[in-house]
Amino acid sequence: MSWMSHPYQDILTQQLRALQAPLLEYGAPLRSRFAPSVTGQLHVGHLVHIWHLWTIMEALGGKVRIRLEDHDRQRYQPAFLDQLFEDLNWLGLWKHPVTLPDLWVQSERQHVYAQHLHTLHLQQRSYACACSRKQVAQRMVSSRAAWMHYDNACRDLSMPFQAQTHCWRAALDLVAPEIDHEVSLFGLDASLRWYSRAHVSHPCYGDPSLYDRHGQYTYFFCAVVDDLLDNIGIVVRGLDLEHHTLKQLRLRKLFTQDSWVPLFVHHPLLPDPKASRKLSKSLLAKSLQAYRREGASPQGLLEQGLQQLYPDLSLC
Ligand SMILES: [Zn+2]
Repeated sequence: MSWMSHPYQDILTQQLRALQAPLLEYGAPLRSRFAPSVTGQLHVGHLVHIWHLWTIMEALGGKVRIRLEDHDRQRYQPAFLDQLFEDLNWLGLWKHPVTLPDLWVQSERQHVYAQHLHTLHLQQRSYACACSRKQVAQRMVSSRAAWMHYDNACRDLSMPFQAQTHCWRAALDLVAPEIDHEVSLFGLDASLRWYSRAHVSHPCYGDPSLYDRHGQYTYFFCAVVDDLLDNIGIVVRGLDLEHHTLKQLRLRKLFTQDSWVPLFVHHPLLPDPKASRKLSKSLLAKSLQAYRREGASPQGLLEQGLQQLYPDLSLC
């Protein structure tokens, strides 16, 4: 699509050419996914993410699946879904040759997540946890272990699961140095330079929740199951999700004997307006729909977004 054409694309594509041969040899399928949640509106951050994802997969000769992450039924709204389709049409994503034709919809796959949770029960890798978010947060603060997202307090209690008060967690025995050798994490720095590293700077330790007290499978769990079953070999996502990566790969290993694990590429993010005082100046303060109504073009928005994300680069 013409709106994705950008001088930065050549920089990224050149770097990716060097990666293609080792990737093919490694055996991970050249398949990725764009997985918007249906809990809000698309904004310029999504546009910038789409640009990274489609540029990377096109350069590698791969494919992208569009997956609706609508597992969170409490925050899901039909109006967001309608708008999502409008935005995707506006961007012309369906027609891009890299896009796979069929959609994956998480809300239609509940039985699949249930089967995988059952597999973990049989492996004795799951347990019921009665801790509320608030309780966990208070304990982490008082023990000065904010880097730990959960202290595995309920793991050995063998509590019976009760809806409304318990969640299911996976016992993962995550030991960072051990798992670091199993994965390749790639990222892009502020100069759009490609780098790889063996460990993440802020890993999130502690057993993850798979199924919450409201009776919903979690993002963390659904993404692992879907990536596995859809044969996703390359995950391109923002740096905000990097802390999940090691744990998601560890969970994946409980379901498969595959010799490969997906390659994870994390790209920088535009400043979050919630964390920024300059809310009105933030590109993310407005939805794509609102920009569209003002007559903005995807190309113009992308240019602004990429310029803000990669200030070290100059287009002159
Ligand atoms: Zn607990």
